[in-house]
Amino acid sequence: MSSSKRILIVGGVAGGASCAARARRLSEEVEIIIFDRGRYVSFANCGLPYYVGEVIKKEESLLVATSDLFKDRFNIEVRLQSEVLAIDREKSEIEVKDLVSGNVYHEKYDALVLSPGAAPIKPPLEGIDLPGIFTVRTIPDSRRIKEWIDDREAKKAVVVGGGFIGLEMTENLIARGLSVTIVEMMPQVMPLLDPEIIAPVHKHLSRSGVKLRLNETVTGFEQTNSELSVKLKSGEVEAADVVILSVGVRPETSLARNAGLQIGDLGGIRVDEQMRTSDAKIWAVGDAVEVKDFVTGRATLVPLAGPANRQGRIAADVILGRDARFRGVQGTSAVEVMGLTIASTGPSEKTLKRLGLWNEPATYEKIYLHPGHHANYYPGASPITLKLIFSKPDGRIVGAQAIGKQGVEKRIDVIATAIQKQSTVFDLEEAELCYCPQSGSAKDPVNMAGMIAANVLRGDVEIFHCGGALADNAFILDVRDPAEFKKGGIEGAVHIPLNELRGRMDELPKDREILAYCLVGQRSYYAHRMLVQYGFKVKSMSGGYRIYTFCKAS
Ligand SMILES: Cc1cc2nc3c(=O)[nH]c(=O)nc-3n(C[C@H](O)[C@H](O)[C@H](O)COP(=O)(O)OP(=O)(O)OC[C@H]3O[C@@H](n4cnc5c(N)ncnc54)[C@H](O)[C@@H]3O)c2cc1C
Repeated sequence: MSSSKRILIVGGVAGGASCAARARRLSEEVEIIIFDRGRYVSFANCGLPYYVGEVIKKEESLLVATSDLFKDRFNIEVRLQSEVLAIDREKSEIEVKDLVSGNVYHEKYDALVLSPGAAPIKPPLEGIDLPGIFTVRTIPDSRRIKEWIDDREAKKAVVVGGGFIGLEMTENLIARGLSVTIVEMMPQVMPLLDPEIIAPVHKHLSRSGVKLRLNETVTGFEQTNSELSVKLKSGEVEAADVVILSVGVRPETSLARNAGLQIGDLGGIRVDEQMRTSDAKIWAVGDAVEVKDFVTGRATLVPLAGPANRQGRIAADVILGRDARFRGVQGTSAVEVMGLTIASTGPSEKTLKRLGLWNEPATYEKIYLHPGHHANYYPGASPITLKLIFSKPDGRIVGAQAIGKQGVEKRIDVIATAIQKQSTVFDLEEAELCYCPQSGSAKDPVNMAGMIAANVLRGDVEIFHCGGALADNAFILDVRDPAEFKKGGIEGAVHIPLNELRGRMDELPKDREILAYCLVGQRSYYAHRMLVQYGFKVKSMSGGYRIYTFCKAS
């Protein structure tokens, strides 16, 4: 693109702002104008729940950059309260409405970047517009929620939807002293993740005082005296002083649609790997676009800040003549709720099954483990539950999910990077990672995950999973210590502690499959290694009794 051209950008937050700043770093000569219909540019949407919870005390802290900073530092013009109404592709111009003066005017572009984000879904329910019902997307949204809570001294909240934003809002409402009920139509919160991984989250939420109403749908709202009645499909009603709607977002595509740009099957703007739309002069990035899932190769919508920022940068590179390409998304993400971190990367088992990929013969395998977040001899180690999904023929890593109190996102980040490099479980086995007593182990949880998965692929251990039906004729062997067995175990299991196993092999059948388990899968692996060498046919339960209890609870 020749140097005296104009880049116009619609939307000045994650994708739009990073595109603008990158474009300026690449060219001092292009003219760059950002249009945003809101009153703020480049603000931290991700911080909004924490402003409501008063963890972030000052509203100004949410402003990552201001219009003045864009002007002074980058020579980028920001026009706030300026809504882009239409795109005229023939004339290469946009129609803009100044929301303060009401003036409508046109601006020509050489390159147009759309980063209009996504809109919170507001289901068409009776009473949905009643005062006291909020969505969370902008600074004014969080300000209104905070004022509502303060002015009415709100005591009870209902959060509709138990995804990322629902959980973050729950944490912050609890921090403000409200009692919170989460209403979620699925049988679990964080519906994209696998149920057995999320089961302990339910327990954690309940223990933290959150009332969970799973498999429940809101059918409408009513104002009753000073309270809101949240009506449920079951016929029951939850009373609330404030309601947070967090049931997902929908890509903002009206501008693109009206301009005749191609829209994908999932409802996002269709772009190529250079973030170019079906019009060679128009790019689109962020929550509004459909992109390729790095692992499955399918189109997907992933409304996260990281991809939006990277895509904005790539669009700028391409507009200014570089051959940049977006690799695709993995959905790498984390959420923390009252001290528990839930993180994941790549598709879950659930997603692979939904796409019909999991069931292809012998394609994927999974393993579970529960290592300490640092060396167990050092005080304060807390367990991480980690699920690793990998491709069976070659060991390529597909996805991972983890929960725990510390060190969770660090492990998922390592695995996310490994996925991007198309690494295998054998690479995780060999990964050289930080270790000091306070933050890791000589065999880091990531190494352990690789070792366990590699053991499976090399045939050093045969595993079975708690969710599957146990073979009719199977002999279930519990190798835990007596004190553990006393507290409960799998029905019908024969108990022989690992340390006694060598001396009690005559109690084991040679003509039946032995399904061995312990608490986390380590001692049953040792039992497996021992018994197969004496001619027994054995499988070890991956993730052990702990995962078994999670499966039962999910
Ligand atoms: C409460 C909350 C918490 C979040 N937490 C996280 C998190 O922890 N981690 C994470 O990765 N992601 C998080 N996200 C998601 C993340 O913020 C988004 O993925 C990211 O902001 C998307 O960037 P974007 O540029 O596509 O859209 P946005 O950042 O939404 O920006 C779009 C902008 O476009 C403007 N706009 C739209 N249409 C027009 C128009 N016609 N004319 C002018 N302006 C227009 C809008 O006013 C808006 O300011 C969170 C989001 C929310 C709401």
